[in-house]
Amino acid sequence: MFADGTVVACEQDYNAKLAMGRVTDSLRFKDIWTSSQAAAVRQQIRDNYKEVSFCRNCPYRDRETTDVSIQAHYINKDIDYETLFS
Ligand code: SF4
Repeated sequence: MFADGTVVACEQDYNAKLAMGRVTDSLRFKDIWTSSQAAAVRQQIRDNYKEVSFCRNCPYRDRETTDVSIQAHYINKDIDYETLFS
């Protein structure tokens, strides 16, 4: 997240080319992170990474992930997703 509250999916997106939204007094991080816009950004990264400038040459890509939900990107099975953003 940038100092102005702009949320991006990855630290490599340092120009906020695929911003998910911006935290404000009325818009929480949780709302942005779980929004349809955030899902669309994840899907674009997953399905069209060659079109995403900051992903094109990334060594950390995981192309085996088939779900764009945030849960699919967590490895730790002990995380309680119901209370994660409470
Ligand atoms: S593929 Fe690499 S640059 Fe793209 S979102 Fe994932 S970790 Fe970030």
